[in-house]
Amino acid sequence: MGDSPVPAAIKHLGQNFLIDHNIVRKIITLAELFPNDNVLEIGPGQGILTDALCRSAGRVTAIEIDPRLHAYLTERQTQFQNLTLVLGDAMTYPIEDLPSGTIVVANLPYYLSTPILFRLLEQQHRITRLVLMLQNEVADRLVAKSGGSAYGVLSVMAQYSADITKAFKVSPQCFRPRPDVDSAVVLLRTKVRIEQTRKNRDQFASTVRAAFAHRRKTLVNSLRDQGYDQKHVVAALTALHLSLSIRAEHLSLEDFIALTHQIHGPPHSPDLRQLDQLS
Ligand code: SAM
Repeated sequence: MGDSPVPAAIKHLGQNFLIDHNIVRKIITLAELFPNDNVLEIGPGQGILTDALCRSAGRVTAIEIDPRLHAYLTERQTQFQNLTLVLGDAMTYPIEDLPSGTIVVANLPYYLSTPILFRLLEQQHRITRLVLMLQNEVADRLVAKSGGSAYGVLSVMAQYSADITKAFKVSPQCFRPRPDVDSAVVLLRTKVRIEQTRKNRDQFASTVRAAFAHRRKTLVNSLRDQGYDQKHVVAALTALHLSLSIRAEHLSLEDFIALTHQIHGPPHSPDLRQLDQLS
């Protein structure tokens, strides 16, 4: 252990540090770690979760953006030979270089949760599962099913890539400083999608984004306003036996997959030998 004082929390970096060891235990149990597992932690902060991860996993890589916390953790790091501390921004860290089978465990800074999740899920073929602490409201959007107001681009894109469970809620009292909102821990088990090349994924993402671009409009009008050929969209919906007045929020994940195939053509099949290079 080093002698440096713990650096004070910086709000704009989302520094709400976990102080409840029971929540740490629940996160570790959910992650189902084994001694040969590779773990990526985003934002180790003061290291409460990092310590527990190092005790349970084979290798832990922890990326921290705050140089004060990086220095604080580096001083204490000597007790864990299996920890690699990285000073940097998780949004630019080369996730594509992670070993296959990596498990991501993180209490994410709130401001980063949605963009980093999109970034991580793009590497779903390298990541087996993710155990993430998020705002409760974001957790609800991740697991939302069609028909409700929480259902949107984030729900569809995340469910395209992973089977998602909201595991448990976490009260603001479990953090210092206390956040203004409730949090929740979610488990995302990534899906193995053989057809998920970069091209197929991009086509799916642009269809979903265009569909939700004008939530109040019908799907036909929303897609048209985003540059899709209206006749093409009408033909696609007709072929799928979907109403021409349907709105995006009433399409299930399977409907979106089928719609993408109708609009863009059947999925491109990758050369299986190159699967590891898909990103
Ligand atoms: N894991 C610690 C815990 O559970 O107490 C800290 C969690 S705190 C909610 C989020 C952490 O992410 C902070 O340490 C913050 O400095 C760090 N952070 C914020 N933005 C980051 C970024 N872009 N890349 C890496 N770390 C970041």
